[in-house]
Amino acid sequence: MLCLFRNMDEDVCTICYENVDATDRFVTEECGHQFGKSCMAEYIDEARKENERRYHDTDDELRPQLDMSVHCPVCRTSLNDEQFAAIEK
Ligand SMILES: [Zn+2]
Ligand SMILES: [Zn+2]
Repeated sequence: MLCLFRNMDEDVCTICYENVDATDRFVTEECGHQFGKSCMAEYIDEARKENERRYHDTDDELRPQLDMSVHCPVCRTSLNDEQFAAIEK
């Protein structure tokens, strides 16, 4: 899926709009959006808790239909969990 809005400024975290060092940069494989690693780690944490909450709020028979993946905070593309391993504490 193509993102319509790519960052104008290459060095800005898309979550907090602070500048990010090259060493602290996380770029999504799927859509190329970039974030500071600490912001992304926090975001992933929240997104997973949110998924857990939805899971518990959903009836048993509907649970298989739930999308439990984490989405890009900018364009909502669902992200491959494996790429998060590098930034999680
Ligand atoms: Zn940030
Ligand atoms: Zn994106």
